[in-house]
Amino acid sequence: MHRTALVLFSGGQDSTTCLAQALTRYERVETIAFDYGQRHHVELQSRLKVLEALRSQFPHWAPRLGEDHLLDLGVLGQVSETSLTRDVAFKMESSGLPNTFVPGRNLLFLTLAAALAYRRGLEVLVTGVCETDYSGYPDCRDDTMKAMQLALSLGMDKRLLIDTPLMWLDKAQTWQLAEKLGGPALVDLIVEHSHTCYLGERTQRHAWGWGCGHCPACELRARGWERYRES
Ligand code: ZN
Repeated sequence: MHRTALVLFSGGQDSTTCLAQALTRYERVETIAFDYGQRHHVELQSRLKVLEALRSQFPHWAPRLGEDHLLDLGVLGQVSETSLTRDVAFKMESSGLPNTFVPGRNLLFLTLAAALAYRRGLEVLVTGVCETDYSGYPDCRDDTMKAMQLALSLGMDKRLLIDTPLMWLDKAQTWQLAEKLGGPALVDLIVEHSHTCYLGERTQRHAWGWGCGHCPACELRARGWERYRES
């Protein structure tokens, strides 16, 4: 039985739900995020708000929630040009991938997270990657995760588990999972504090949270929310 975990926690809906689940499953949970020159630092601010709200509103989880780690990955901006790191508009590339795709990003995240987990004595990496709504990102696939788990375990000569609780859930089911884990209070916390919008917009409040309402991330979140509320 695994008792300790490191959650890749960006401050979005998915990773907040993953963090909540980890807090129900593991005795010691730490969090990690990467600063790679996102066009907006709203996400990084949101994650601190989420952590603070989890600690104050879920006192039974608070003792399990350990250190938070933020790694500087500015180097990603040097090797890739995407709409997440540069000021360019969103579009689909001829490859069929959106230009928000940063090649190898999740592979790098997992490798660095594994190195930190090794040093901190944490047994499981938890990540909110998902094939259902995955926009075609090949580094979110279940096969990619299994291959990474094997490569990292072999390369560090230490058994490491990659836990992907959202892999086969759609966005409506992710809201349902949040409700199951922490009731309406957790759903409200995610609506209010988590951040999904690609444009970093936090002046417009919708039923599903803050965001521009038009970018692919907002549309996905809004559609999932509608289906969740109908169910
Ligand atoms: Zn948006």
